[in-house]
Amino acid sequence: MDSVSSLDSLAPSISPAIVQDTQAWTTWWDPSHTHFPWQPTATQQALFIELYAAILQGNRQFNLTRITEPADFWEKHLWDSLSGMLPWFLEPPTHRLKAIDIGTGCGFPGLAIAIVFPQIQVTLMDSTRKKLVFLDQVIHNLGLKNAKTIVERAETLGQQSRHRGQYDLAFIRAVGGASLCAEYSVPFLKEGGTAILYRGQWSQDEAGQLPGVAELLGSELTQIQPWSTPLTAGVRHCVYLQKHDPTPKTYPRAIGLPSQKPL
Ligand code: SAM
Repeated sequence: MDSVSSLDSLAPSISPAIVQDTQAWTTWWDPSHTHFPWQPTATQQALFIELYAAILQGNRQFNLTRITEPADFWEKHLWDSLSGMLPWFLEPPTHRLKAIDIGTGCGFPGLAIAIVFPQIQVTLMDSTRKKLVFLDQVIHNLGLKNAKTIVERAETLGQQSRHRGQYDLAFIRAVGGASLCAEYSVPFLKEGGTAILYRGQWSQDEAGQLPGVAELLGSELTQIQPWSTPLTAGVRHCVYLQKHDPTPKTYPRAIGLPSQKPL
């Protein structure tokens, strides 16, 4: 399977009500609030609002996300997606990077990252075609040149030579347990590349198991960044795995095995 074509037009409808509802976002991006050393440009802020409008509209047709209130959307989709990029806010990439967002759903974290980092070419991957039909239309409407979609399962794509070992960054949020996320993401990385696992709570069990799983896949758990979300003080953790060796050919295992029998 490959990139999908568009269905109905989802031309963004940015009503005055949406502009009004998202006005607070401007102040929320303040670094004292986000803890990022960064604020969006006017163009990036406009793209975030356009993305929000498109998702509200797409939700009617595709049932994409339950996070639709303006404050929730800002915190749980935009801020949360960008939280994993703190190291790249601190040291912006000086050359083009390739990234893959595994199980992107309605585009998070990958689409928010593509808006902020034009030097990162982001592949948005998901096994559900209808979500990517929607995302293709959004990418077109927002005029994003550095994002594209692929319909496939992580277990299949991670074994294909065009994708295996080809990415500098792999993002994965809300797709499954930490071991599954590692098995899905690390095979896509080049040696030296980084997988960012977006987690909520971080349990003792996960802390005990993940370093061994990371090693098995040819990577090392290098950092666990705890976060408190800026509006509701929710618990988040961004977990970073850096690849140092090729992943053994047996990973990712066949479809279904990573979830049925996590490493
Ligand atoms: N990452 C998005 C987010 O955080 O908002 C979406 C999370 S959603 C709960 C999980 C997504 O992962 C779904 O869109 C599902 O289709 C996709 N997914 C689950 N297993 C997958 C697999 N093996 N390969 C590709 N996509 C998968």
